[in-house]
Parts: sequence; C-alpha cells; structure tokens
Amino acid sequence: MTELLPNFVAGRWQAGTGAGTALFDPVLGTELVRVDATGLDLPAAFAFAREQGGAALRALSYRERGALLAAAVKVLQANRDAYYEIATANSGTVKNDSAVDIDGGIYTLSTYAKLGETLGDKRFLVDGDAAKLSKDGLFQSEHLLAPTQGVALFINAFNFPSWGLWEKAGPALLSGVPVIVKPATATAWLTQRMVKDVVDAGILPPGALSVICGSSAGLLDQLQSFDVVSFTGSAETAAVIRSHPAIVQRSVRVNIEADSLNSALLLPDHPPGSEAFELLVKEVAREMTQKSGQKCTAIRRVLVPEALYGAAAEAISARLAKTSVGNPRNEAVRMGALVSRAQLAAVREGLATLKTQTEVLHDGATHALVDADPAVACCVGPTLLGTRNPDAAHLVHDVEVFGPVATLLPYRDLAHALALVQRGQGSLVASVYGSQPAELAHAAFKLAAWHGRVHLVSPDVAALHTGHGNVMPQSLHGGPGRAGGGEELGGVRALNFYHRRAAIQGSSAVLAALAG
Ligand code: NAP
Repeated sequence: MTELLPNFVAGRWQAGTGAGTALFDPVLGTELVRVDATGLDLPAAFAFAREQGGAALRALSYRERGALLAAAVKVLQANRDAYYEIATANSGTVKNDSAVDIDGGIYTLSTYAKLGETLGDKRFLVDGDAAKLSKDGLFQSEHLLAPTQGVALFINAFNFPSWGLWEKAGPALLSGVPVIVKPATATAWLTQRMVKDVVDAGILPPGALSVICGSSAGLLDQLQSFDVVSFTGSAETAAVIRSHPAIVQRSVRVNIEADSLNSALLLPDHPPGSEAFELLVKEVAREMTQKSGQKCTAIRRVLVPEALYGAAAEAISARLAKTSVGNPRNEAVRMGALVSRAQLAAVREGLATLKTQTEVLHDGATHALVDADPAVACCVGPTLLGTRNPDAAHLVHDVEVFGPVATLLPYRDLAHALALVQRGQGSLVASVYGSQPAELAHAAFKLAAWHGRVHLVSPDVAALHTGHGNVMPQSLHGGPGRAGGGEELGGVRALNFYHRRAAIQGSSAVLAALAG
C-alpha cells in the first residue's frame, strides 16, 4: 500500500479512517500516494480555524501578516526541488510547465507579502474618501473594510495544485482570514506537501492554514455567515455550490472561477510576415501546448481575417508539429501528459464532439509519444481544428475541451469577430494582436465587458508581454458569465473578498480618531 497523506486540521495532522483514494502517475500509471478525509471532525476543524486561527491573524497588522507570508515564501523556495519531483510524478508536466504552477504560486505569494509591507501597521482598510452628510461637514460618512470574522474555504481544481492554493491564500492570510484548502483529489499531493512544509516551519499561528485531502463531503455544511468560499473548477460543480443552503440561506460569500472559451484575435491588415501575425501564431501554439492545454486561461478560439484562414492554419500547424509529446522526464519532450485517465477520456470525448462541426487542421494523433506507452500514458498531441463557418458551428463557442485543443475561426470584419468572441458568453481572457495603438485600444474597450482581462500584443511589447494565459497577481483574474463571474487577484483588489465593507457615520473628529 502506498503512503496515506494526512490532513492538517484543528492544529494537528490527522489521517482519514478510510482506505483512501489513490493518486497516480499519469505517464507511468503507477500509484503514488493515497488521500482520505473520512472520519475528520469537520465542525471542530472549522471552529478551530475560525476562532483560533482568525483571532491570531487579526491580532496582527497587514505588515506583520505580510512578514509571515514572506517567511512562507522562503520555506517554499527552499523546498522547490521536492515540488518539481511531485509535479513530474503526479501532474506529468515538463519542467517549464511545472514552473508555471510552482514558481507562479511562490511569486504570487511573494507579491502579497510585499503588499503587506506597503499597507503598513493598520488593522483595517479605508475605502475611498469621507463624504459630508451635513452642510458644515461636521457629520461625515466613511467606508471601512474590516477582515471578515470567518474562515476561507478553497475548493480547487486539479490543474494548479500550487498556484491555485497560493493565489488565494496570499490575499486571504494577508487580510487576516484563516484558510482551509481542499485540493482536487487527482493532484492533491503537491498542495498537501506545500502546506506541510509551511506548517512544519511553524510560521503561521495555529489554525491559520489547514488542508483537507479527499472527498468534499460535508465541507459546505460547515459554512457560517461570515465564512467565504472560493471555488475553481467546472461549471457543473459551481452550480452545486451556488445552490447549497449555506450560500442560499446563510449569505456565505462565494467566488467562482469556472470554465471559459478564451479567444485570441488577430486584427485586420496583418498578413503573414507581419509581426502581429507571427506573434499570434507563436502565442497560440504556446497556449495550446503549455500544461497540455490544461489552463483555464488557455486560448480555445483563434480568430483571423477570412483571407488569412489558410495561412494561419499552416503557420500554427507548423509550430505544433514540432512539439514532442511524452514522458516529461525525457529532456527531448516539450509537452507532458494530461493529469489522469479521466481527463484523457474527457479530452477525447470533447474532441470528437468538436469534430462534428469542424475540420482537423493539425491532428494530435500524428504525434508519436516519446518514452511513453500509449496504452498507459495520459498523453495526447496538440490538435488544431477549424471551420469556415464559425456562425453555424455553435459547439466551438460552447464546449471547452480542457486539453491541447483550439479552433481556428475566420471573420469578415471586426464587428463579426467581436460577435463571435461574445458567443463564448463571458471569458477569463482575450488577447488581441495588432500594430496600431488606436485599433488595439478600440478592441480592448469592445472586449472589456465580456472578459476579466484583455491582453494586447503589439510589436513594441513582443519581448516584454507576460503571455495570454499567464495570470499576473497585479491583474484581475476571473471573468463574467460562463467564466463564473468571479474576481481574484488584481493587487490589493483581491483583499476586498476577505473584508466586510461598513459605512461609518460620525463627527469628523471621530472619523479622524478612527483614521489615527
Ligand atoms: P470539478 O470536477 O468541478 O472539481 C473542482 C473541485 O471541486 C475539486 O476539488 C473537486 O474535488 C471538488 N468537487 C467536486 N464535486 C464537488 C461537490 N459536489 N461539492 C464540493 N466540491 C466538489 O472540476 P475539474 O473538472 O476538476 O476542473 C476542471 C475545470 O476547472 C475546467 O472546466 C476548468 O476550466 C476549470 N478551471 C477554472 C479555473 C479558473 O481560474 N477560472 C482554473 C482552473 C480550472 P475532487 O477532486 O475530490 O472531486
């Protein structure tokens, strides 16, 4: 039997009492470890975090909590090698893709550590300027943000076991709110190990950080009015969470990051050979293959002017053809595996669905696996689909295939392109490729209401831009509509979710005392 990873709740490590669920190496097919949450005293776990962890964190200033995050960053950096080993084994990712998760997570946490320094020794935040409520200005209203007095429950997706934890825990802990994280079972090992390292280093007060691996059963039942839930995963599970009695009846605040059909748009008048065209081609190929396309922000729909459909298909396919797929331990491999057999089956099924309305421009099946047994390994080559009739092909605007798959869509004019993008019903990110600042700015404005982020790529930032799919802690992450309607990150904005806003009305002298 493989090792059963313990959970950390109520200030101590506790093994589940069940047989556990096995986690596998998606390339070799071997069992790695097991997780189990059976028999945990969840009411006690939540009460401990809420009362002990919350009180201890709120006794500190933003600066002091930022210092705790900075200390956690040091611990995580010291253990990076172990995280890379776990990611290779359990996520099947090549080193560069593991970095997106591991180093991306650590960088995001360090960004919030530094933010704590800038927020200083305060115990609450002030939102905006005071407004006069009396003519003479003696009676005023000011808005104050106080840390919520509950616990933050994170229910995370399988594709970012590190980043998914720290991009949420950074803002929560900095706000003074204790965290209970429930990672997706398939890749829970890395989350559990990172929490273990930080807990064992004794940095955070007891109850500040807990981890529960295994089934989600009973977690939502523990939620009380001042708790918050941050969920990342499928739209189906999101719907279950939204309708849970804790959210419906107890007004528990919830943030949802769900699936998304992100677009990349090449503006008119950028033929093959132009910098904008080449930048789009490069970015599409990179986004399709990074983490085997298992990124919520990955490009799924590629929009180009009608006349460039053939040239774009050829150029993207040429890049994809060079992608070696297989065992991430082999240095020649550029793209590793999907995380599980279940995901492999889901990607194959999604591809079959999209193929009913599209043609295959580059076939992932032509990629022979390097150093991996096709009967065992959850590896698939990148597939570019396309259709000359993007209006009729409704599936490409509806079905998110969570793997190395994108669809090329030709458009007649910019209005048509924008209408096609909008058929995604709200996405996390759109990227636009062009050369004229005014045209890029116009497209950005038109796309903004449909997206959480608009990423503009022009030749002057060719070597500087952070990538379509890379989520930077300084920028908002989330998207309207189908993308879940959530908001994360965006620098200090992330702290709003973990604070309650209250209007404080009183004399200017009282408000001055409050500010002091
Ligand atoms: P999922 O099945 O919804 O699982 C997500 C999480 O929810 C897992 O931790 C899962 O636990 C848990 N869960 C499952 N059923 C639950 C229930 N009834 N109550 C409470 N929790 C429950 O999603 P997935 O298929 O693993 O994730 C892929 C999806 O996530 C994709 O659609 C992708 O677009 C989306 N995603 C979005 C973002 C973003 O930031 N917007 C980021 C990454 C992924 P178990 O693993 O134990 O089942």
